[in-house]
This record gives sequence, C-alpha cells and structure tokens, in this order.
Amino acid sequence: MSALRGWKEIPIAGIPFEPAVKYKTGDWRVFRPVIDNEKCIKCGLCWMFCPDSSIIWDGDNFPTVDYEHCKGCGICAHECPTKAIEMVRG
Ligand code: SF4
Ligand code: SF4
Repeated sequence: MSALRGWKEIPIAGIPFEPAVKYKTGDWRVFRPVIDNEKCIKCGLCWMFCPDSSIIWDGDNFPTVDYEHCKGCGICAHECPTKAIEMVRG
C-alpha cells in the first residue's frame, strides 16, 4: 500500500470530521430534537456541538434540524443553555 500524500487521499470513511451530508443517517434515529424558538437565544451552541452538522439556520436565524441527517444523539439538547431543545420519540 502506497503512502498517502495528503488528507484529500484519505478514503471518505477515514475522515474523522466528515459531516454526514453525503449519507441519509436520519433513519438511525429513535428520538428527534424539537426546538422551541420561544426559548432559543440563538447562541449557536447546538450548531457548534452537533457531531453531524445537522443544525442549520432558518431565514430568521433560528436553528432548525436537518432530520434527514440528524441521528438523534441528544447532544444539542444537553448543551442548550435555555433547554429550548426537547428530545421526542419519532
Ligand atoms: S440530536 Fe444529535 S445529531 Fe441531531 S441535531 Fe442534535 S446534536 Fe445533531
Ligand atoms: S443551543 Fe439552544 S438557545 Fe442556543 S441556539 Fe441552540 S436552541 Fe437556541
């Protein structure tokens, strides 16, 4: 096996922080995050901590969830300082 000459030659599964954008991983989910905009202060922590880049921003700069890719890990809900994110089944 020849040596890799740069990160671009790493096979896709070997890139540690490759976002899940290319894979529809939402089917893995048991619980899904639901965001209450009334409680959200737009701090961005959910976006920062999501390991799947599944927090996106709507036209009013509120976070919303890309359910095609969110795996339902609950990290966003755990990190939200105002408890604006609830994990619900489904
Ligand atoms: S539940 Fe996990 S994967 Fe889904 S948006 Fe929150 S942090 Fe991201
Ligand atoms: S972590 Fe909570 S308060 Fe901060 S942007 Fe996300 S939902 Fe809003």
